[in-house]
Amino acid sequence: MKKAIPGGVMMMAAFLAMSGGEKADYPIQPVPFTAVAVDDVFWAPKIETNRAVTIPFALKMNEETGRVNNFRKAAGLMKGAFEGRRFNDSDVFKVMEGAAYTLMLKPDPKLEETLDGLIAVIGKAQEPDGYLFTNRTIDPKHPAPGSGPERWSNLRVSHEFYNVGHMYEAAVAHFQATGKRAFLDIALKNADLLVATFGPGKRRAFPGHQEIEIGLSKLFRATGNRAYLDLAKFFLDERGHYFQGERHASDDPFAVYDSDEYMQNHKPVLEQDEAVGHAVRAMYMYAGMADVAALGGYPEYVRAIDRLWDNVAGKKLYLTGGVGARSGSEAFGDAYELPNQSAYTETCAAIGNALWQQRLFLLHGEAKYVDVLERVMYNGLISGVGLDGMSFFYQNPLEADGKSKLYQGQVGRSPWFEVSCCPPNITRFLPSVPGYIYAVKDETLYVNLFIAGSGTVEIAGTKVAVSQQTKYPWEGTVKITLGPENPADFVLRVRIPDWARNEPVPTDLYRFLAANDEKPSMAVNGAPVRIDLDRGYAVLRRTWKKGDTIVLGLPMPVRRVVAHPAVAADTGRVAFQRGPLVYCAEAVDNGGRALDLRIADAAVFAAEFRPDLLNGVVVLRGVSGGRNITLIPYYAWANRGPGEMRVWFPRPASELLTT
Ligand SMILES: [Zn+2]
Repeated sequence: MKKAIPGGVMMMAAFLAMSGGEKADYPIQPVPFTAVAVDDVFWAPKIETNRAVTIPFALKMNEETGRVNNFRKAAGLMKGAFEGRRFNDSDVFKVMEGAAYTLMLKPDPKLEETLDGLIAVIGKAQEPDGYLFTNRTIDPKHPAPGSGPERWSNLRVSHEFYNVGHMYEAAVAHFQATGKRAFLDIALKNADLLVATFGPGKRRAFPGHQEIEIGLSKLFRATGNRAYLDLAKFFLDERGHYFQGERHASDDPFAVYDSDEYMQNHKPVLEQDEAVGHAVRAMYMYAGMADVAALGGYPEYVRAIDRLWDNVAGKKLYLTGGVGARSGSEAFGDAYELPNQSAYTETCAAIGNALWQQRLFLLHGEAKYVDVLERVMYNGLISGVGLDGMSFFYQNPLEADGKSKLYQGQVGRSPWFEVSCCPPNITRFLPSVPGYIYAVKDETLYVNLFIAGSGTVEIAGTKVAVSQQTKYPWEGTVKITLGPENPADFVLRVRIPDWARNEPVPTDLYRFLAANDEKPSMAVNGAPVRIDLDRGYAVLRRTWKKGDTIVLGLPMPVRRVVAHPAVAADTGRVAFQRGPLVYCAEAVDNGGRALDLRIADAAVFAAEFRPDLLNGVVVLRGVSGGRNITLIPYYAWANRGPGEMRVWFPRPASELLTT
């Protein structure tokens, strides 16, 4: 299972060495997904479906919807007007990023050729000075609605920076995957134009939709050119100083997209302490703030995102890990405003949340961020793609009536969307999943996620093979095997998930109805050891030698969850969780209905693995009010046609056992 490091990564190392100098970075470093091979019942099939089905499908949809043709038109290779929305370039870049990641997992000359072809067209679509925004280049006098009459004249709305931010990420990924510089050179030429145009003493501006901050941070990491990081910081610092006020007439179609709060421009970023506005923008901004803080050494940004985390995890997080309660504005609601059927919880916001949680962990080394990361990965993020790999959710509600259409979609999953940010985002997230499992700091190896497979890490100068055998999330036994090339002293920190410590979340937003008395167990080379918890980790320090094993036992009874009393939508209701998975009832398993289900506290639910169902899932079965009830993992809903679905079940008031 050992994997060679792709040539691109080696070239990157050489490239970095040329740029010289010691650079600041996150105090904890993730073990990259290229160093970890996943061989796992849960994620491996999803990553493979993404490679074999979703990426080819998304490439095809980018062609069929004119997204790629827009580049051909801008390049002068094709006649015609811009098709679609002003942000459509970004969908092409995101799928290219996902494709580049899959090339790192598995060589695919045909896919590499497809990318080379796209890159050639993108290069021709780029204007001589580096500007790249197809809809303006195709017809500068008539750009798509919202783009503004001139370059960068309507940055609050235009997505000019959002698009190229995604290009920077894709270009770095492609360079890492292939060692080819063509795409990276296009990205750097564009970034150099922005560096020359924007900044202190130059033009002042900030993007309405954040993302470029993450992209610029990646360009800085790839090249060592500090100007890219400084520009990312500049864009963050520009927020919260120029207010839109009431400029827009009520008949302005873009008014809803242009309020200060909507784009996190209501206060300087360092003063923000409540998550407001468009959820995807907020998540990307917080992740960008973490990058700028870590790479540039600015602890004040960390203090700001720590406060924002307290607010999100304490008051605005769905049980599925989703964020963004309000439809229409795609935005955070007020504290505890967490409606179920109208929950917006965009797939992109879930991915942004995962990116942010991982960065917070890399800054602080606390398991609570990985607890939230795991919750979102196993529930409200992966729900965004169907088991077939080619049907998607933009919204991920916690309740459905089986009749109402979702925004720009169908009653159930949709094959694509007019505003199709989410499917391409899935294509780039899934191949990177193995990169969330392990992390290293000095003499410490962190085991954050329980995913079977093997990898190689370097701890204090020693190469250590590490592997996991587990059927997680279906079973709670995890066997970790270590293989240092020579016996080595280091610290192993194994995350004990919040749910195994009787806390569904690291705040008081949710709690288990009853405590579970079965404690997690741990054994080293067969001998039980006491679990000493530190910041959510079991800490094991010793001289490790080849073949040492650690067996973690995480009891996985069926748990009932209740929400903070201030969450009106969940008052008098209960949800079900087993291991990291949140469960739901679908009509198809429950006699054609789910919204009429009430579940008494006394009803006992048993877990049962069903290999034939939904690619193999553990279902929960019980009886309440004389009805047989079957619950399935939330992420797997809506794979068998539309119908009612519910996560939070009313508890018959006369049958409460506890409060
Ligand atoms: Zn999206």
